[in-house]
Amino acid sequence: MTVSAAEQEKTGLGNYFIANYPQFSFWNNSYLPEARAALDSAPRLGVPLGLYLHIPFCRKRCKFCYFRVYTDKNANDISVYLDAITKEVELLSKTACVGGRALDYVYFGGGTPSYLSATQLDALMTRLREIMPWDAAREVTFECEPGTLQKHKLEMLRKHGVTRLSLGVENFKPEILQYNGRAHLEDEIYRAFGWARELGFAQINIDLIAGMVGEDWDNWKECITKTIKLDPDCVTIYQMELPYNTEFSKALREKDGATRTSLDVVQPAVADAPAMEVADWPTKRAWTRYAFDELVKAGYDVSSATTVVKSKTKTKFVYREALWRGADMFGTGVASFGHVNGVHIQNVDTWETYIAKLDAGELPVGRAFPTTERDRLIREVVLLLKTGHLDVGYFRDKYGVDVRDTFRPAFEKLEREGWLNVKGESVDCTPDGLIQIDRHLPVFFDPQYISARYT
Ligand code: SF4
Repeated sequence: MTVSAAEQEKTGLGNYFIANYPQFSFWNNSYLPEARAALDSAPRLGVPLGLYLHIPFCRKRCKFCYFRVYTDKNANDISVYLDAITKEVELLSKTACVGGRALDYVYFGGGTPSYLSATQLDALMTRLREIMPWDAAREVTFECEPGTLQKHKLEMLRKHGVTRLSLGVENFKPEILQYNGRAHLEDEIYRAFGWARELGFAQINIDLIAGMVGEDWDNWKECITKTIKLDPDCVTIYQMELPYNTEFSKALREKDGATRTSLDVVQPAVADAPAMEVADWPTKRAWTRYAFDELVKAGYDVSSATTVVKSKTKTKFVYREALWRGADMFGTGVASFGHVNGVHIQNVDTWETYIAKLDAGELPVGRAFPTTERDRLIREVVLLLKTGHLDVGYFRDKYGVDVRDTFRPAFEKLEREGWLNVKGESVDCTPDGLIQIDRHLPVFFDPQYISARYT
């Protein structure tokens, strides 16, 4: 079936953004021996090691959320989970692949890590730091939902060395937050941000989403004005996508098929709600472009297809930079993703199996994919293109190839279409190319991966 250009520009069901290569649909449990061997081997020279911790609890489920999260766990369940993840870190800390490396970066993601109480966080971080200290890490990121923060919780995070606080603001308008199932209120954003500044976190990031249900130009402009006024160090702007397992996606499928984009079917509880539509891709790109332009006027630098920072030289995002350049990372927690010694690894994706494996003293690895050198080269080319820039010399030093030759047809195509320029030793996306780079990245994929499912 061929899909018209107009259909392609609608926000249909499925993943749009590319976060890994080869796609998750190629990972499977027949590669578990390769995962084990990777964990049991010494690390490659000079490769940094990071730790990701998935804290899968949220106050309520956002209607666009596709992560493995739980909204029904009690204090006892949470305690069981925190014991399990601590046990997992302990098991991993004893594997040969650590090779004496100190953690370079740590990332608490979710879910909502800030859903945990200050007491739970204190106990968890104290135990984790005894097992794998992060005092020498270049960055410790912690994701927060503004409505779950109190000042003493933030003080606890500072005490445990969190350097980068990421606030899931998404939008400022109360009605839009409500339509999309967000749990926080506008006032809670300002309160949380004020405390974070007062406590002196090295970097505060604000997440926004272009294209939340109910969004329009006036409100989006207002959101950007309010963001600039808060003056965060970093702003991350996602464009709304509708992977298959979100509440919005389910409602669309149940209603009348995947091409429908009206979501009023999932809004019966909201009085006077306008017609609920997900903006099409050109509109979301226009909103992102507007936001980038305004933020640049306010003194920010564009540092990737989704991010602007106060100063490119001072405001780093170590987690992203390391991961996109093929660093090792232990992905801990239910359904978490990681990468060790060239092997992609994902944990089992149900609560019961995750807890049971760790109860039995086993690592909860669920599926894996051993990458080839060429897979890793392609992975780095596509992920680093999302920063808007490739350095030909970097790839020559690391892989012994000239990427301009290896991927000549792909670069020529994207250059012809106006999405990037190849000049000397640099490949640079054009501003329009950068904000839609994900949809062009499959031209770099090997043939067997081009039209494959993402997850
Ligand atoms: S807060 Fe984040 S992880 Fe939790 S339901 Fe919403 S989008 Fe998902």
